[in-house]
Amino acid sequence: MAYKVSLDSDECMSAGRCIASAPGFFVFDDDEIATIDPSGTQPDDAELLKIARTCPSGADQAVRRRPRSRHLTPHLSSRRRRRALSS
Ligand code: SF4
Repeated sequence: MAYKVSLDSDECMSAGRCIASAPGFFVFDDDEIATIDPSGTQPDDAELLKIARTCPSGADQAVRRRPRSRHLTPHLSSRRRRRALSS
């Protein structure tokens, strides 16, 4: 697989899209924040990219497994997300 997941739990807004798309790999912790179950099976690259692109908070990113990692999905900082939600 060319991609791996980068999951920022501080950014997760518990929408659950990743968990609905790949149950067993993405799971909610006790605070209903998405986390990765290391014993789960990672989705293939196409699915991983699709899940990352549909994450509403930008917490879930698909990162290329190369020396120069590159985030492929846009990331909104907490401040930008709050500003967008309040307008
Ligand atoms: S789709 Fe994004 S915001 Fe929703 S639970 Fe997964 S990581 Fe969190």
